[in-house]
Amino acid sequence: MLVKDQVIFAKNEILSQKGEPFTVFTPYKNAWLKALTDANTQFYDVDHYQNKWLSLDVSANYAMPTLSQIGFDEQTLVVATGEAGAQLAWQDFQNRIHNYAAKRDFPAIKGGSYLSVHLRFGTISIRQLVAHASMDSTIGAMTWLSELIWREFYMQFLYHHPNVVHEAYKAAWRDQPWSNDPTWFNAWCSGQTGYPIVDAAMRQLNQTGFMHNRLRMIAAAFLVKDLDINWQWGERYFAQQLLDFDLSANNGGWQWAASTGCDAAQPFRIFNPILQSERFDPQGKFICKYIPELQKFEQNFIHTPWLAPESYHQLIGFSLGVDYPIPIVDHSVARQKALDKYSKIKALTERNK
Ligand SMILES: Cc1cc2nc3c(=O)[nH]c(=O)nc-3n(C[C@H](O)[C@H](O)[C@H](O)COP(=O)(O)OP(=O)(O)OC[C@H]3O[C@@H](n4cnc5c(N)ncnc54)[C@H](O)[C@@H]3O)c2cc1C
Repeated sequence: MLVKDQVIFAKNEILSQKGEPFTVFTPYKNAWLKALTDANTQFYDVDHYQNKWLSLDVSANYAMPTLSQIGFDEQTLVVATGEAGAQLAWQDFQNRIHNYAAKRDFPAIKGGSYLSVHLRFGTISIRQLVAHASMDSTIGAMTWLSELIWREFYMQFLYHHPNVVHEAYKAAWRDQPWSNDPTWFNAWCSGQTGYPIVDAAMRQLNQTGFMHNRLRMIAAAFLVKDLDINWQWGERYFAQQLLDFDLSANNGGWQWAASTGCDAAQPFRIFNPILQSERFDPQGKFICKYIPELQKFEQNFIHTPWLAPESYHQLIGFSLGVDYPIPIVDHSVARQKALDKYSKIKALTERNK
């Protein structure tokens, strides 16, 4: 017997009234919510089917493959694994779900569910999560349910547009040149760009195999818009490092950040890494956790250590360019270059209409 287990709605199960796949999230979400019934979140008696399979005595022919056989390297990162680990994380999040909307954007606070790795590997049931969240009318639970729907949105999007694995969804972006400076790319990968919030994010990724959602947006936008590096380089690096790597979510997230994706009314977003840092890590707690060399900085300089006066550097015994890098780009200059590039692509798109 086959059971659908990874999602609530798969493939063609949510279509527009015209019978077409959705390419914009909000109408997809509305249709998804309308289609949801108790039957979609029912409990499957997995043990029953597993026991039946075991009784066939074919299990010996299907020994558990090793990590290397399925293409993974051994790793030393620590996460609570298996169904038991997933249920622990879920229990913990149920106590915090009501605060999700208010807290999820602040990387120094435990605001998210941290269930992505379990959803990715199927150690928790999407039906269990949706059954719970859809019965809870708090803003926190409703916002969280939306994120679970984003996950399915990107999955169905990939199903209907498999070409996005190799190219930008928006045709006008496919042949655009990129600077692709390898030194800048290495600085980004290793958390040495000189922008503390970006570097802390990349170091979290490298050290833990996880990156907070707000930081994924900031780090991705910085690579594409500030460094003018092809989003596919970043997508590949995330795929290599993330324990929760999921092709549809990662590709969707990168194309969103690069403005090449399926968001129809998408403006050309440029994140200011300094303002994002001040807003979402106001006291620099997250920065200090991953960049100990900045721990001596006061709150008003932690987001921009290069702007602190020389006398202040001397006072705290800090040497810019030695203890921590000078920013590899000037955000305001990079921003203008990105806007110029976008204007050219926009003009080209309009000419070809
Ligand atoms: C550039 C970029 C790359 C990303 N790559 C991945 C990836 O490889 N794998 C992955 O699971 N998520 C990815 N995301 C989405 C999101 O960042 C993570 O799902 C989230 O940070 C995981 O933390 P959490 O479990 O605490 O999420 P919560 O905030 O608790 O959300 C609950 C669940 O909803 C799903 N979800 C949340 N946000 C999104 C989203 N924007 N798109 C799709 N699903 C979402 C995840 O399964 C997540 O576990 C990416 C986002 C960006 C911007």
